[in-house]
Amino acid sequence: MAAASKSVTRTPVLIVGGGPVGLGLAADLGWRGVACTVVEQGDGSIAHPRATAENARTMELFRRWGIAERVKEAGTPPDFPHTVLYLTSLTGHEIARFDRPGHGGTARTAISPERPQRCNQLWLDPILRDFAASFPTMTLKMRTRFESFIEENDRIIATVTDRDSGETRTIEADYLVACCGGASSIQDTLGIAMNGVPTLEYNLNIFFRVKDLWNYHDKGKAALHFFADAQGIWRTLVQIDGRELWRLGIRGQWHFENPDKIDASAMITEMVGCEIPHEVVSSLPWVARDLVADRYVQGRVFLAGDAAHQNTPSGGFGLNTGMGDVNDLGWKLAALVQGWGGPRMIDSYEAERRPVAARIVKQATDNFMRDRKRPSHPEIAMDTPAGAEARRKMGAAILESQSKVYLTDGTALGQLYDNSPIIWDDGTPPPEASVIEYRPTTRPGARAPHAWLGDGRSTLDLFGRGFTLVKLGADAPDSSQFESAFASRGVPLSVASLDDPVIGELYARHMVLVRPDGHVAWRGDTPPANPLAVVDRVRGAG
Ligand SMILES: Cc1cc2nc3c(=O)[nH]c(=O)nc-3n(C[C@H](O)[C@H](O)[C@H](O)COP(=O)(O)OP(=O)(O)OC[C@H]3O[C@@H](n4cnc5c(N)ncnc54)[C@H](O)[C@@H]3O)c2cc1C
Repeated sequence: MAAASKSVTRTPVLIVGGGPVGLGLAADLGWRGVACTVVEQGDGSIAHPRATAENARTMELFRRWGIAERVKEAGTPPDFPHTVLYLTSLTGHEIARFDRPGHGGTARTAISPERPQRCNQLWLDPILRDFAASFPTMTLKMRTRFESFIEENDRIIATVTDRDSGETRTIEADYLVACCGGASSIQDTLGIAMNGVPTLEYNLNIFFRVKDLWNYHDKGKAALHFFADAQGIWRTLVQIDGRELWRLGIRGQWHFENPDKIDASAMITEMVGCEIPHEVVSSLPWVARDLVADRYVQGRVFLAGDAAHQNTPSGGFGLNTGMGDVNDLGWKLAALVQGWGGPRMIDSYEAERRPVAARIVKQATDNFMRDRKRPSHPEIAMDTPAGAEARRKMGAAILESQSKVYLTDGTALGQLYDNSPIIWDDGTPPPEASVIEYRPTTRPGARAPHAWLGDGRSTLDLFGRGFTLVKLGADAPDSSQFESAFASRGVPLSVASLDDPVIGELYARHMVLVRPDGHVAWRGDTPPANPLAVVDRVRGAG
């Protein structure tokens, strides 16, 4: 029986869940000087690898915090190719190949100061935890289960249980953020529905170890492998560390329900095409879902990460969409706690992030279903002219339809916050949406574009702590009244003057106001006629 409640503590922000999203939010709040408490029911150990792929936008967030290099060092070696292969088996026939020269490594690109990387949660979560814990304002309570909460008199009163002592404690908070993943109960408490398809497919993952698996076949190193048999695309093989760790994904409810009955070694042999030395480490049943919460905010409670949206792994969006939530919510909570943010900050989180998640979850489902429904041929694996023709046909169809699964800079960097109550829309049309291609724009709501500065930094390195007014060109107009309007409302602002014609053209206006999350809030060639109205809008008070 649980012991009676003994202690009450108070925190500005209570984060439920110490997965990557909860830890990322704690890190962002710490970086902004805002105190928070994270309660995590587990002990931080991870038995089985989940997300591996960080897109360029997630890496930009890590860059802002100063941990991008740590993530790269911990992840796949920089020269490991992020290639995607479709095969009959590793020693069998190749059907299609996507090389992704823009992924991994450190070479400079024009669209971002960071490239997509591969660092599995096995290493990423501890990096996030250590970084978040480096801020003395962060309290992390491991092996502590969140039980319930009530909202009363402008505060949250939460009950948590210490799993070791059984002691029940009360934590009072100004705000509560549910980062407790797919099994969160907070939506139920609030009556928030998860809309979509709860079960698209049952799966089982087998985590195993083979050193330098590429030495046993002739297809070379690759990050992702998909295997086709006579029925279609069936198993997947994911490289985890660029060295010796692998994850085999198997479809089907029977496998999901009977992880102890499957012959993992036989499946590995079948996938390779011959017996090889290997060590099975663990297995994890999981369900592919298509779900988005119908609300992200209620009162003082926010949903983020898998608690707000769950998608199939096709495209590698789950963790990245959660990190996008962190980037959007962190500065808004800081603004509310520090007192310069207005009430529309709260509504703006849902207005900005929910449509992004709805688009991405649909994209992930479409990606997933295209491979699941792909017609195959009984002779797909055969060394016959009919087999070669079946592979040619399937390969052409895969190349035609699946580029947008593996090349997603447009989705990562092109997220545009239309219809946000805290963006000053200038009425210009958005660039045509593209999954594959990122189209830079300073249209309000868009991520402010990257360009290299003369001193080797990125324009993105100018943003983050408060608002940044980027003034472009030697003839940029006087902004002192605009700056005074920020000061009069207590909103942090810095000014960056750039006199580079290439960046001037990219930014397209003499003045671009960038929010702490790197998105454009307002732009113009002259200062606003009513600067206070703009400041009040972008701080959620107008
Ligand atoms: C097989 C697989 C492969 C994936 N691959 C990718 C990929 O390549 N790229 C990608 O972007 N995403 C991928 N994902 C998705 C990714 O793993 C998730 O989106 C991500 O982990 C979500 O992070 P989160 O912090 O929101 O939730 P979680 O990681 O689920 O963390 C939630 C945390 O909350 C804790 N918690 C829950 N309830 C309570 C409670 N009552 N009290 C206290 N603590 C609680 C849990 O213990 C957990 O630590 C994959 C997922 C799977 C299953």
